[in-house]
Amino acid sequence: MLRRLVFSLFLNWVIAIAPALAQTLTQSQVRHVVCAEAVWCDITSQIGGSAVTTQAIVVSPQADPHDVMTSPAMARDIAKADIVIVNGAEYDEWALRLAATSRGAGRETLDVGRLTRASPDANPHLFDDLGVVEAFAHHMTAELIGNQPRKAPELMQRASAFDGAIERLRQRVVSVKSEVTAKRIVATEPVGGALFTALGLEVICPRFALAVMHHTEPAPRDLALVEGALETGQAAALIFNPAVTSPALNGLVDTARAHGVPVVPMSEMPMPGQHWQDWYEGRLTILKQALSVR
Ligand SMILES: [Zn+2]
Repeated sequence: MLRRLVFSLFLNWVIAIAPALAQTLTQSQVRHVVCAEAVWCDITSQIGGSAVTTQAIVVSPQADPHDVMTSPAMARDIAKADIVIVNGAEYDEWALRLAATSRGAGRETLDVGRLTRASPDANPHLFDDLGVVEAFAHHMTAELIGNQPRKAPELMQRASAFDGAIERLRQRVVSVKSEVTAKRIVATEPVGGALFTALGLEVICPRFALAVMHHTEPAPRDLALVEGALETGQAAALIFNPAVTSPALNGLVDTARAHGVPVVPMSEMPMPGQHWQDWYEGRLTILKQALSVR
């Protein structure tokens, strides 16, 4: 409630200064936003409505956004953007490089990690963190109102609806947490980290998942540790990122199945057309179901 009040005061301030802001901008038309990952474009278009057009570079849940081979077509897409959105926090360095080589007049690069002051060693899957997504949504709302003050009523209505979706997720997290807190899990990759923390779950040997994310060979003792946790019933679930596979990771899935440990897929991105909040809610549901088995 306090958070909403603060945001509403903030919006009143933005609307008060918006006409002055708009005068300082040479362009006050629909903003074309190009995002490194589809999830940020989904949130932007939910907030922006008719004030934005969006295009995302990585859109498939099967893709690994940490490791993207860039192409001239991607550079051309970025060159058309008024605003480029990258996750940042070392998640998509390829996108920052693309944006840097394609600087245009008035083009802005919005780095979510910087914007929300994510610490350098933070889990880079920032879309898993409700506070980060909320801060990003508020920033976009203020920026778009500043650019198109006449659309302030529509933008405020959209921002308020999105705030409501975040609030509902917060309540759902509290409810699921009461059933699963303190359970221990193994994860093949750190996606979902902020969600696990919010639910009070403990990731066994997070170093293992970090090594996978960095495409380095996990230490043999760490592999043995997570295997042991699956074999001896210490782990209540194995969280498996389908975008990152290897013989060792597939072996962990086999070990989990052989010992009756639920395997929970957790991808880096919503399905095309799926909203971020529905994806988040779906992941809560699947985690709850898996963790209630043990
Ligand atoms: Zn990842």
